[in-house]
This record gives sequence, structure tokens and C-alpha cells, in this order.
Amino acid sequence: MLEIRNLTKKFGSKTVINNLSMTVNDNEIMAIVGPSGAGKTTLLRCITGLERVNSGAFYWDGKQFDPTNPDKGDTIIGVVFQDYQLFPNLTVMGNITLAPTMVKKESKSQVTENAMTLLKRLGLEGKETLYPYQLSGGQKQRVAIVRALAMNPKILCYDEPTSALDPALRDEVAQIILDLKKQEMTQIVVTHDMEFAKHVADDIKRVEQIQ
Ligand code: ATP
Repeated sequence: MLEIRNLTKKFGSKTVINNLSMTVNDNEIMAIVGPSGAGKTTLLRCITGLERVNSGAFYWDGKQFDPTNPDKGDTIIGVVFQDYQLFPNLTVMGNITLAPTMVKKESKSQVTENAMTLLKRLGLEGKETLYPYQLSGGQKQRVAIVRALAMNPKILCYDEPTSALDPALRDEVAQIILDLKKQEMTQIVVTHDMEFAKHVADDIKRVEQIQ
């Protein structure tokens, strides 16, 4: 279970998140919704350690952790960015295996085997030698999901996973998220798409713009 207690985030004198607390239960899909500018992406960036919080604390199964200083042994948070942020100069396999080998120091053979299993699971078998520019938008997103899963995170976070997708692909990503839930992955989805949130989420956290 992920617990966020009393998180406050400011940019200069502007408070974007004020004393927010939330809990994400194991194997749950939590959607974070709210109007444009309410701080959804900022909240996700705090959870994933890309922004430092002004105050507040994060707990995984009751144990405090600092998202900005991830433990090398145990990845708590994985993230799929809105624009996927794949490394353009690396193949699909290179994108997936870089962090587990460099950060976690896992053996190349084990990482490659794990990557092949994940690629197969997400319908990307045979794509491992292609470069990101050779993939469709939906395929890039699935590679980004595999890349995050390869670190074996406890929670997978997505920033606006449907924003760049046409309706068919939107259904496909919903199915991927629901399939991962069946495999007991805890997930957080930032979205402005209420319909999508209602379709996939077990719980919805609404963030409001601070005046
Ligand atoms: P959208 O749905 O439009 O993406 P959002 O709910 O994700 O919006 P954020 O992107 O988190 O909102 O932005 C929340 C507020 O924080 C906005 O007023 C934004 O201008 C401000 N903000 C975000 N990042 C920074 C930053 N690095 N420096 C200063 N202000 C920022």
C-alpha cells in the first residue's frame, strides 16, 4: 500500500498542492483527475521523484521512502511518461534493458530474458531490434510500459496515457492497464479523461486548483 501524507508542493510562492493525503491500496488502479492546471502532473512528478516536495512523506507498506532517492535494490515507482521519453538512439531492447543492467546491475542475460517475456506479454514480440522512430505511437507506449515493468516496480504510474491516442488505441491501453491489474500491479493514472478514469479505476482522486 502506498500512503502519501500531507504533501505540499510550491513553485516559488505559488502553492500547487496543499497538504494532500492519499492512499493507494495494493492491486488497485487509482485515477488522479482534475481540471487543467490543478496539479495532476505535478503530483505524479512528486510521487515519481522528479520533483522535490516542500513537505510531506511517502510510505510503502508502512515504511517511509524518498522518491527522489530510490533504493537501488528495490524499485517502488515506475513511470510511463506522456511522450514516452524513449531513448531515440537505442533499440527497443536497448531501451528496456538499460536501467536494469546499469542501475540494478542485473545480468544482461537475465534482463534480456525478462524483457522478451514482457515484450511478448504486451504484443511486441519481434520488435526488439527496431528503433523508436520505426514504431507507431501505440507501440512506443507499450515499449515505455515494458521499460517501466522491467524494473519490477511495486507501482506503475502513467501521465495522461490516452492523450496521444485515437479511440481504438485508447481502448487498447485501458485493456493493458486492466490486464496488469489482473497480474496484481498497483497503478496510478493521471488523466483529464473522466470516461477513461471511470472505466479503468477502482478509486478516483480529484485534485482542485488552489486559488
Ligand atoms: P494539465 O491537465 O493541463 O496537464 P495539471 O493538472 O497536470 O494540468 P500541472 O502541470 O501539474 O497541472 O501544473 C499545476 C500548476 O503548477 C500550473 O499552474 C503550472 O503552471 C504550475 N507549474 C508546473 N510546473 C511548474 C514549474 N516547473 N515551475 C513553475 N510552475 C509550475
